[in-house]
Amino acid sequence: MGAIIALEQFNVLFLLSVPLLLGSILLIVFAILAIPVIFKPILISITLTSALVFYAVLNYGTVFDYGMIQNSVETDQAEAFSYLNLQAVIHFFIFGLLPALFIAKTKIITQGYPKAVFARLKVLAGAFVVLLTIVFFFYQDYAAVGRNNSHVKKFINPTQYLYSGAKYLKYNFFESEIPFKTLDIAPIDASPDNNEVMVVVLGETARAQNFSSNGYSKNTNQHTSTYDITSFENMFSCGTATAVSVPCMFSMMTRDNFERRHADKQQNVIDLIQLAGFDVQWISNNGCKNVCDRVPTINIDLSQDNPLCDGHYCQDEILLLPLQQKLTSLSKKKTLIVLHMMGSHGPTYFKRYPKEHQKFTPDCARSDIQNCSSEQLINTYDNTIAYTDFVLSKVIEQLEQLPEDYKTSMLYVSDHGESLGESGIYLHGLPYSFSPQQQRHIPMLLWSNSEQHHTNCVKEHAKNQSFSHDHLFHSLLGWLNISSTAYQSELDIFAPCIPSKTLAKN
Ligand SMILES: [Zn+2]
Repeated sequence: MGAIIALEQFNVLFLLSVPLLLGSILLIVFAILAIPVIFKPILISITLTSALVFYAVLNYGTVFDYGMIQNSVETDQAEAFSYLNLQAVIHFFIFGLLPALFIAKTKIITQGYPKAVFARLKVLAGAFVVLLTIVFFFYQDYAAVGRNNSHVKKFINPTQYLYSGAKYLKYNFFESEIPFKTLDIAPIDASPDNNEVMVVVLGETARAQNFSSNGYSKNTNQHTSTYDITSFENMFSCGTATAVSVPCMFSMMTRDNFERRHADKQQNVIDLIQLAGFDVQWISNNGCKNVCDRVPTINIDLSQDNPLCDGHYCQDEILLLPLQQKLTSLSKKKTLIVLHMMGSHGPTYFKRYPKEHQKFTPDCARSDIQNCSSEQLINTYDNTIAYTDFVLSKVIEQLEQLPEDYKTSMLYVSDHGESLGESGIYLHGLPYSFSPQQQRHIPMLLWSNSEQHHTNCVKEHAKNQSFSHDHLFHSLLGWLNISSTAYQSELDIFAPCIPSKTLAKN
């Protein structure tokens, strides 16, 4: 976190006063709210949860805002267990279990009414004295730091996660159901006579800077480099976590106005493509965050007996067989297939690729990644990218088997990036406003057999212009030639390269 909350100059006494200040404030709150009987269980649960949060903040620079709470709730068992290691257990024992045990063992003396009130007033008065003293000496420092670094409060444990948790409960359990919103009843396929297959490969945790197609020094795109691929070099994600990015990129909402609870309750671009008459198939190795709720979906069976699967996760080649089956039994002229990868999901990067794809060594075969050397960690991560690249090349190989009168294309786009220890930050999910670029700058690759669409104009835009997940909704409609009332050509990456659309706009 060093880079995020580094102060250029600071007073050591001021720094030491911070825990005292927070402690006094919490003491005041708890002294007022100390209701007998429920007080102990509440304190114990806060202590245990705070120890886990503390571990994540300390080791990965995680911030527990609304998005992170949503992530944590939507995490499956396998993902949660991938964080389990000896260091985490020791940390939880020292900072969670021991203090919780101490609280549990503490005897609470029940006193008569006046005595109890007086005892509490004494505690409150003491806390106020400490608080006022700190404010008296350091008011200027707190005001300055607060003004310039308002996000620092997001690191306060336990207030930040309690606040975000309460907000999550309110939105998800105490607010009335949002009615389903239709964006378009009848989008139209404007070229119904052509045969077309598009495969959208939805990446996971891949960051742009580790793609050799974007100029990375290590050859992570060896397998696709033999194809005519366009890399969108300045592509940015909607969120820094799957639970935000995946629903956002397929939704008509843009990053500025995106809200997950509304996204879940309205049509997305996949729905519109299906309504336009396409055969849509979602094949998932990584859930779909409600995006595939209304289209046919195949969920990879993680417990299958297959060398690619370990019971919790499958490596992404597993997607190739159902893809092959779909491509050899196309039922309509037009088909859209989404492959949702496990990609580079951490912290157990080493489990994302088979041994024979261990291209960069030495790698980091453990989950407490902060204890690997930077070289090992980056090698492991680069192996996941190179393996993704291998799977992409296999997807293209399959598309090339289709009859020549098919327009075929593959669009690969990641959901968000990843921090690999830069400034002491690991993983992803930091609040967008102060997340490092590595968590937002994502790869997007396009391959197509149609020269009519995949033009030099597109390649030039891909190199020089900046795009984001906001563009995906409209670009998919544009690429697939679907007219819809929801379509906005100014957010279609391809529109400026299609003469008829440029003319229509003028
Ligand atoms: Zn993700």
